Amino acid sequence: MRAHNDYRGEPDAGGHYGPYGGIYAPETLIQPLRELDAEFRRARRDPAFRRELDALLGAYAGRPTPLYFAERLTRALGGARIWLKREDLLHTGAHKINNVLGQMLLVRRMGKTRVIAETGAGQHGVATAAAAARFGLRCVIYMGAADARRQALNVDRMRLLGAEVREIAVGQQTLKEAINEAMRDWVTNVRTTHYVLGTVYGPHPYPVMVRVFQDVLGREARAQILRAEKRLPDVLVACVGGGSNALGLFHAFLRDRRVRMVGVEAGGRGPKLGDHAARFAGGRLGVLQGARTFVLQDGDGQIASTHSVSAGLDYAAVGPEHALLRDLGRAEYAFARDASALRAFRELSRLEGILPALESAHALAWVMRHAPRMKRSQLIVVNLSGRGDKDVAEVGRHLRLSGGASGA
Ligand SMILES: *Cc1c(COP(=O)(O)O)cnc(C)c1O
Repeated sequence: MRAHNDYRGEPDAGGHYGPYGGIYAPETLIQPLRELDAEFRRARRDPAFRRELDALLGAYAGRPTPLYFAERLTRALGGARIWLKREDLLHTGAHKINNVLGQMLLVRRMGKTRVIAETGAGQHGVATAAAAARFGLRCVIYMGAADARRQALNVDRMRLLGAEVREIAVGQQTLKEAINEAMRDWVTNVRTTHYVLGTVYGPHPYPVMVRVFQDVLGREARAQILRAEKRLPDVLVACVGGGSNALGLFHAFLRDRRVRMVGVEAGGRGPKLGDHAARFAGGRLGVLQGARTFVLQDGDGQIASTHSVSAGLDYAAVGPEHALLRDLGRAEYAFARDASALRAFRELSRLEGILPALESAHALAWVMRHAPRMKRSQLIVVNLSGRGDKDVAEVGRHLRLSGGASGA
């Protein structure tokens, strides 16, 4: 399909990316979403907003992050030169803080006093709790009870940062249930409360707003690779949960038609429905939690359960802009299985002394497979979306189970 060839990286006024996106929300939220959209558009044009956000991204979050040449990984794979965008070095450990700080400034402009968020692995919850403390806002984080047990450290971090963590013990007790509860809270308290969504998903304006707050990382990466290598990269690679770190990287390169863009989804245990979160491999068009996009569902349209070793990629739907970029052939999507991601986690740790988040390890798994077949003159930029400290227990458990923990 080439019907949207004039696509310039922005949705229409209703938040449509071609046939995807839109506003699927309860009646009571339509007006608050419109107000959020209006405030976002005003802020986006306001140089004072940009200056304040840039200052926070610098001194509080730690931007700019380095673009690091992975020399030993490059040599071990024997092909393309591999550069890592180091979002793992940011405050609270992942790219999530970029978006959260932008939304907090909007909250202040709108005069709201309370923020809510939902979180799977806890990374978005921790970023939101930290920024809420920084801005003096009340903060409630919704989390599935099963996720809260698996990510006890992040639950403790959020509570120490002053947030109230509400554990949801219905259904699968994971992210989908937490989102439903957060939506319910928002409908009830919308006059005082802002819902801090953590990825390029949900009803308009969230997908475009979160993308705009994340694209700083791609603008940095583009300038950094041009400075270091005097040319553009051949391939960009990023993992795709909702898709915010990937769009953050891709957007600055959208018009550089020769730069390939690869998004890597969670292939989980295998191709059976329920065993993975590869929406582009096994999903079809549907509506879930605010947006029209690719959704994993059974023959009756019931939302499928999903699995990934990385909680941050474990969701049944994907951000609508990715669906359009795929239709246009501008971005391509692959998946990596749990086992490949775990191998990539170990490889990067041992070769470069960097523990990657298990989410980011999916992007690295693609690189480990494809870099050896590329020329030594070619360049890959991989987004290292977060650090792996949160995943140490999970990785240890898998390595012990497979008997592979001893040194090779
Ligand atoms: C949340 C998270 C992701 C997935 O979210 P996207 O919106 O797809 O970026 C990826 N990596 C890390 C480290 C995360 O915390």
